[in-house]
Amino acid sequence: MEFAEISERIRKLGEETENELSSVFSEIDRTREKNFLKVLGAFRKSRVSDFHFKDTSGYGLSDPGRDKVEEVYKNIFHSESALVRPQIISGTHAIAITLFGLLRPGNTLLYLSGAPYETGEAIIGIRSAKTSLKEFGVEFAQTDTSKGVSAESEKLIKNATVGVIQRSGGYSYRKALTIGEIRRMISDAKRINPHITIMVDNCYGEFVETEEPTDAGADVVVGSLIKNMGGAIAPTGGYIVGTESAISKIEGMLTAPGTGREIGPMLGLTRAFLQGVFFAPQVVSNALKGAVFAARLFEKLGYETRPKWDEKRGDIVQAIKLGSPEKLIAFAQAVQFVSPVDWDAEVEPSYLAGYENDILMAAGTFVQGSSIELSADAPMKPPYVIYLQGGIYYEHSKLASLVAASRIEKLIGR
Ligand SMILES: *Cc1c(COP(=O)(O)O)cnc(C)c1O
Repeated sequence: MEFAEISERIRKLGEETENELSSVFSEIDRTREKNFLKVLGAFRKSRVSDFHFKDTSGYGLSDPGRDKVEEVYKNIFHSESALVRPQIISGTHAIAITLFGLLRPGNTLLYLSGAPYETGEAIIGIRSAKTSLKEFGVEFAQTDTSKGVSAESEKLIKNATVGVIQRSGGYSYRKALTIGEIRRMISDAKRINPHITIMVDNCYGEFVETEEPTDAGADVVVGSLIKNMGGAIAPTGGYIVGTESAISKIEGMLTAPGTGREIGPMLGLTRAFLQGVFFAPQVVSNALKGAVFAARLFEKLGYETRPKWDEKRGDIVQAIKLGSPEKLIAFAQAVQFVSPVDWDAEVEPSYLAGYENDILMAAGTFVQGSSIELSADAPMKPPYVIYLQGGIYYEHSKLASLVAASRIEKLIGR
């Protein structure tokens, strides 16, 4: 790849890298093909028509476009019910609505995949926040059953009302869970406690494999439309899919008890939501290829990565342990530098609502904060790990990795 900022040595290393990736890329293409067919099948089964793209406003009573979007999601996730709305602002919001709908005072919420994603800490009340679940008398516990159930975990599961599995690692530098692992974790939990309701935080995981957590026995699955499911087209939104029994408890928290899912205008976004989900398998496959390239390139330069380039992936996020704040900033600035929007913006660590540490964030994106578009972020703390994700084009992430590598090599005088 020719670009002024790429050093000759890194350009050559990039070519070498790319030559090694064909078998992993073929596997990603096969997954995309299956997911494309699944999504197309969902559209055809739902009989989506041009008529559904009409705008609605106000209460949004009987919005046929909204019903169609939710039907398409039901068909993709093989679920009984779905809420897919612009009124769900983010993944965090979808998680909050779901947990407040499912839990009552005195109940216990149990994370089965270790520590929750940072913004979840405020919802739960691990980090003090007004109107947290803790303020409403909901207890919290966490364990990790991804490698099996200990006696301690078994006790916690017996006592829990809702169990949560977070598919992606967030900023924890653990590997994302595969559908196979999620399936095992759900069947273990339900064997021990048949009454437990399992929610999967599916952020960054959609279309990475050919099945989704609903196929693996989850009762509720949630995510953001400015990540994978929106296909880089949806300008906002979130989704909650699952059993009718679960969704009927959650819908009152989406709008109000009594009105539930019956109201909620699509505000002209129906077409963007549908187009986005149609593009999603394609965008996710490009993001995955970009992640694989970044992993291999930085492994060749001597860095530890998670996952490794040829490991089975459960999400689109590539973590690279850079080891110093200077390298972290150099990487993020390189991503910003090759962005189509705000390429000349200064990337600096700063406060972000919902997060404890200052966050370094590079995102020259069309949709604010969209991380299905090429983006990189990192909490400013040791061991200084950059999280790279998204990329509508594989070539875009490849360019970012090559520029980042060139700058980092220069920084250390190589
Ligand atoms: C991004 C993310 C969230 C939060 O989603 P937002 O849309 O940023 O609020 C929650 N959980 C995981 C695992 C995530 O990756």
